[in-house]
Amino acid sequence: MKTSIYDIKKLEKHLRHNGFGARELRRTYRMLFREFTPLENLGWDDAFTANFKEQFETSYLTLVSRIDSKIDGATKLLFETPDGKKIETVILRIATGRTSICVSSQVGCTEKCRFCATGELGFFRNLKSEEILDQVVQAGRILASEDRSLRNIVFMGMGEPLRNYDNLVAAMDQLLSEHVFKFVPKRITVSSLGIPELIVKFAQRFPQVSLALSLNGSNDAARSEVMPINNRYPMADLRSMLEQLETIREGIVMIEYIMFKDLNDSVEDAAKVAAFLRGLAVHINLIPYNPDYSLNKSFLPSSIETIEAFKNHLQSEGYKVTRRFSLGQDIAAACGQLANKS
Ligand code: SF4
Repeated sequence: MKTSIYDIKKLEKHLRHNGFGARELRRTYRMLFREFTPLENLGWDDAFTANFKEQFETSYLTLVSRIDSKIDGATKLLFETPDGKKIETVILRIATGRTSICVSSQVGCTEKCRFCATGELGFFRNLKSEEILDQVVQAGRILASEDRSLRNIVFMGMGEPLRNYDNLVAAMDQLLSEHVFKFVPKRITVSSLGIPELIVKFAQRFPQVSLALSLNGSNDAARSEVMPINNRYPMADLRSMLEQLETIREGIVMIEYIMFKDLNDSVEDAAKVAAFLRGLAVHINLIPYNPDYSLNKSFLPSSIETIEAFKNHLQSEGYKVTRRFSLGQDIAAACGQLANKS
């Protein structure tokens, strides 16, 4: 079996054995993992490259298709894993020039959020850390070819990242390593639907990595209606978890709130959300629900006026609030739409 190119200890051993000094190693890592240079362009001679490929697995995902949005800077990449499973990664080119990618952590999802296209697929398997990292490298290569650099990584693609804890941690170790990808921790965001013990465990290990929590409800009844996980971990548990996070990590927690008509979008709901989050360092992100890509037609989107009233109330209570404009609506790359069209 070949060695993974992401097994840095073995990679270093191989390169040192072949005469690479400290400077050449640094240059190789920079080109491979920060500039996303293809192996063929590293300046190695052909025989050395061929021998390297015989010993090292350099790619884990095959790009099956690429769809570019016609209305904004989003690109959806459809990959196939070695066992024939399909996963999606989204590149987001934001008008300000910043670039982000949204990576998947599972094939399908273990959870069954009732508004989510991925949840409707069911769960197939967890992605290996190499498959998570390969999404970063392949998307990074596309951006590098456009003279852009990859700034942010968000774990908001297919799957609940914390249900794939060990592989997530292994990938994160490489993404944050000084010698490998060298990402700034706060520019990586792990988004979870709220599994308190796993979020706390992750935050203890990576206190500087950004966290997002999908709240999506102002009370247990409404939240349970869209997210069955709430039956297991009700909002009181989430509140205790958020308090605990403040003692073990720096920075705010992003609260994601998808807005559903007549379910969680009234000013009274806003007041309940404000009370629930009182005293915590959070930023609330309101996400208009897009029903087009879900098989479940029982939820409807809130109107812009309703969202604005909700936002105004939260702001009047002193919260930082943004209304997210999802990129990639036309290519089913917005929140909760991944996997549905593939
Ligand atoms: S919203 Fe996230 S956690 Fe819920 S089913 Fe979809 S991918 Fe899974």
